[in-house]
Amino acid sequence: MDTPLIELKGVCRDYPSGEGMLTVLQDIDLCINAGEMVAIVGTSGSGKSTLMNIIGCLDRPSRGSYRMDGQETGQMEPDELAYLRREHFGFIFQRYHLLANLNALANVEIPAIYAGLDRKARQQRATALLDRLGMADRLAHAPGQLSGGQQQRVSIARALMNGGTVILADEPTGALDTASGKEVMKILRELNADGHTIILVSHDRQVAEHANRIIELRDGAIIKDRRTREPGPPPPLLHAAASASPPWRAQWDRFVEAFHMALLAMASHRLRTLLTMLGIIIGIASVVSVVALGEGSRQRILRDISSMGTNTVSVYPGKDWGDMRSGRVRTLLPRDADALAMQPYVDTVTPLVTKSLTLQYRSISVTAQVNGVGETYFRVRGMELAEGRLFDRESVRASGQEVIIDQNTRRALFGEASDKTLGEVIMLGKVPCRVIGITKKKDTSFGDTDSLNVWVPYTTAMGRLTGQQYLRSITVRVADSVQSTVAEQSIVKLLTQRHGTKDFFVSNLDAIRQTIEKTTQTMTLLISSIALISLLVGGIGVMNIMLVSVTERTQEIGVRMAVGARHGDIMQQFLIEAILVCLLGGLLGVGLALGVGAAVSLSGSDFKLIYSTAAIISAFLCSTGIGILFGFLPARNAARLDPVAALARE
Ligand code: ADP
Ligand code: MG
Repeated sequence: MDTPLIELKGVCRDYPSGEGMLTVLQDIDLCINAGEMVAIVGTSGSGKSTLMNIIGCLDRPSRGSYRMDGQETGQMEPDELAYLRREHFGFIFQRYHLLANLNALANVEIPAIYAGLDRKARQQRATALLDRLGMADRLAHAPGQLSGGQQQRVSIARALMNGGTVILADEPTGALDTASGKEVMKILRELNADGHTIILVSHDRQVAEHANRIIELRDGAIIKDRRTREPGPPPPLLHAAASASPPWRAQWDRFVEAFHMALLAMASHRLRTLLTMLGIIIGIASVVSVVALGEGSRQRILRDISSMGTNTVSVYPGKDWGDMRSGRVRTLLPRDADALAMQPYVDTVTPLVTKSLTLQYRSISVTAQVNGVGETYFRVRGMELAEGRLFDRESVRASGQEVIIDQNTRRALFGEASDKTLGEVIMLGKVPCRVIGITKKKDTSFGDTDSLNVWVPYTTAMGRLTGQQYLRSITVRVADSVQSTVAEQSIVKLLTQRHGTKDFFVSNLDAIRQTIEKTTQTMTLLISSIALISLLVGGIGVMNIMLVSVTERTQEIGVRMAVGARHGDIMQQFLIEAILVCLLGGLLGVGLALGVGAAVSLSGSDFKLIYSTAAIISAFLCSTGIGILFGFLPARNAARLDPVAALARE
């Protein structure tokens, strides 16, 4: 005699209950041959479903042996059991357990996706099965749009999708009206005639009478096992045409399925998904904008500096910035500037004296910074005039009473509308000077842009305005062919010789530039790390909502496991959802950051945010990483669910 298809020996199933164990199945010995149609009957709570779940490899016996088609299942891994469910079993549940957000056709296709049937063959077979069950015109209907009897037919088609050698039906008519119930039983009998082995659970005697063999359970033990009809020899079962895809293709199909399900899940909770994303959006947007802001200000500062000429060295009295005594050091003289101008490594030299003075034009008085400078000052500093002219060497030599004013001063003294400015005489303290030029508004981020500045020849400033003989600073423009550091050393040497001691210090813009770059970097790093914390918090939010999502869809997970989804398939689905949420959040975050940049430039400010591709790409990598990191735990929880417990969850 050939081996029975299903063979249980001494199978027990215990559940922990309170202190001890509750034995739900006791010493079940049962053989079922291929082609039989068996009904399991018994009162509620007698263990019918438990036995059915063990036969269907959804559950394992606590003790005893279960051989399916000659293979011992006791020691099998979860994925091997999933393989058995996929290839041999088809489940029909009392409550149909169709996935609500897929239509009839897609529901029927699911088992074949996990089995790796190629797409076209899959759709053809699903359509043919639904057609055979009289559902040809309901392919695109969602379960909610179908009657109970129709839903049960869809679930029968699903059970047959991978062949369904053994069909397990737990109270298949329990939720149906009499007519639909009869219809379903007729289908099951026809399937049995085609060679499918049918095992059905029912507490309804009339339903059980359809079977060839009736097994009665009481308190977890078989009390009666009788054959009502001898089954004929099983007709050869026509298997689904084996048009399996190549492995990579099957993998890909399962990925697409998981992706699709993740999208559906997100779409069915749009607001929740958006709120979950918010943390990620804010985090990514702030990282990207801060980096762009840092880069924007860095480039701007560099541009300002290079407009002033990076190749300049300034000499100041005192030991260093902030030296309290520097105001009393009076040794930096115009003669030093003259000496420097003679040096071969020097292009131009301009001395600077400054003093705060009251300017007066007719009845208007304002306080302004008066800068006494050389005629080359404007060239060294890269400043340009909007109107008028610069003073010349002759004017400097003769302490000319000529003044160049900036836009702020012009507005303060002459008012907004005045076009009669050049040639007017204003009072600098007690000295009248003629306005000969107006500087362009400088778009610099240095200094106070609201301050008033005017420039006069330094000889005028020293002789007529302040009476002081020493300079505030000397700015040297180094010849183009000479390095500023080399020039700096020579300047220090020359001036130390002249003064007999080093009572001055030099600063070159290159050093300032380096300091500024370092500062910007530190700031960017600091703010970015704060933004990273926001990302982390966002990630925790994602994890939280994914855990909720897994709980909500426990039953769906159970159904997928019953039709043969592997551990990895379930895991993949939830991981993809977490990653998608984060990635979409990242996308919106980058969009938001770009929007901020556009708003800033639209607002008329000439300040620019400069976005780097690297920052944007790493923002995406970062959000994917967060998705993986924080999606892992919920996804693993989902994959580790016990199929029976998952299915039982309402
Ligand atoms: P039937 O399907 O015949 O109505 P079941 O097989 O569902 O009965 O359940 C048999 C017994 O096992 C019941 O008394 C039930 O309380 C118990 N049982 C089922 N599942 C569990 C479980 N997960 N934990 C504890 N007891 C359970
Ligand atoms: Mg039951």
